[in-house]
Amino acid sequence: MSNKCINININNIYEYSELPHKNSGNCNTCGGLEFKSSVGGGKFLRECTHCGIKKNI
Ligand SMILES: [Zn+2]
Repeated sequence: MSNKCINININNIYEYSELPHKNSGNCNTCGGLEFKSSVGGGKFLRECTHCGIKKNI
């Protein structure tokens, strides 16, 4: 887990390139391990069930 302050807006959808995984499988912001995943428009969207951040990976 990082203490680096990232200003997260859960209404935003992040791109992997702007918010790369520090540890694959862990949420960047809360360190959570559970995600909801969906596929649409050729992209794989991962949403953290804990903090709600969404990211295209
Ligand atoms: Zn999270």
